[in-house]
Amino acid sequence: QSNIDSVDFAKGDDLLPAIVQHALSGEILMQGYMNADALQQTLDTQQVTFFSRSKQRLWTKGESSGNTLALVSVHTDCDQDSLLVLVKPTGPTCHLGTRSCFSDAQSQPMLQRLMDIIESRRGAPVDSSYTASLFAEGVKRAAQKVGEEGVEVALAAAAGDDKELLNESADLLYHLMVTLAARDLSLNDVLEVLHQRHQS
Ligand code: AMP
Ligand code: ZN
Ligand code: ZN
Ligand code: ZN
Repeated sequence: QSNIDSVDFAKGDDLLPAIVQHALSGEILMQGYMNADALQQTLDTQQVTFFSRSKQRLWTKGESSGNTLALVSVHTDCDQDSLLVLVKPTGPTCHLGTRSCFSDAQSQPMLQRLMDIIESRRGAPVDSSYTASLFAEGVKRAAQKVGEEGVEVALAAAAGDDKELLNESADLLYHLMVTLAARDLSLNDVLEVLHQRHQS
């Protein structure tokens, strides 16, 4: 919670923009406004609470929908007049039902975008897409490719061939993501494991 004590609520109308980002994937989920009370309540309850300009009151995200934002950490920008709020969301953050209010796929981080494209190929006609053909063969084929690509990554690294190493790494990441998707797991499930590890 860096610099939170020095947040500058004196500027403007006492409302600061609060940018909400997924703590694991880095996805930008939404943007709201916080006054000092909203920030304090967010820190006290560990549930993200804004000041709603339309309701003119504190608004805990998810209070009616249940789609809450569990606080991970809050950070200020260089001159303490803007907030970055890292969260783990429950359910879709946008009231329109999408994961992010910025649901334009192009606006999301590259790996999340690729995972979404991979998911969208599930059940698609097999002759239309390599990803669809992998899904159709079940997890075994994709998992076997992870093994093959892993070996190719190792060989390229050992040979000092950086161009090959990058290409094979891309192949490995892609097939790993298909394998996870075939098991109904998400990228965030893996990131959660990494996150838990570096917290201790
Ligand atoms: P909720 O806080 O999810 O229970 O939603 C309550 C109301 O807040 C909704 O009906 C919307 O009017 C509004 N709302 C919910 N989520 C968002 C969002 N991500 N951005 C803007 N308004 C929202
Ligand atoms: Zn600033
Ligand atoms: Zn929205
Ligand atoms: Zn390869």
